[in-house]
Amino acid sequence: MKIDITDIIERDGTAKKFEMDVDSHKTGGGMTLVGFLGDIHLKGDICNNEGILTVTAEITGQLDAKCYRCLKQIVKPFTIEMEEIFEPANSSENLDNYEYSGRILDISQAVIDSIYLNIPDRVLCVPDCKGLCPNCGCNLNEKECKCKEESQENNKFAALRDLIKE
Ligand SMILES: [Zn+2]
Ligand SMILES: [Zn+2]
Repeated sequence: MKIDITDIIERDGTAKKFEMDVDSHKTGGGMTLVGFLGDIHLKGDICNNEGILTVTAEITGQLDAKCYRCLKQIVKPFTIEMEEIFEPANSSENLDNYEYSGRILDISQAVIDSIYLNIPDRVLCVPDCKGLCPNCGCNLNEKECKCKEESQENNKFAALRDLIKE
């Protein structure tokens, strides 16, 4: 995710647009239930203000995930708005800002950080997904099993057991 900034770096107050597709595998991993499908698209601009670069971008892509309740495979589009400041290397006093040096701006880390801050680590297939029955494993969105009644019985026994313990 490198952008040539030669044309704006020498002229204060100038900006340039950029647009690129990034292989989603390059954004790293670490999440078990949420991944990406296909490329991640970046579109934005870079403004030079006395050597301080403001990068604004829209990051779009598709989440390839498993519902964390019922494990159904789902694909969900996402859009993240990013705005980050890049300062010349070794001049930054603000640790929240990113650094750059030379005429190539590498926005990889900023993009990866934005994605991981904004993408949920757990997603649901539908907001009120009923999940899987912990007993028989059936998908409760698709059918109802009898386990619930039985487990209520078990809970009664458990409550009784706790009473006896006390
Ligand atoms: Zn689900
Ligand atoms: Zn069941």
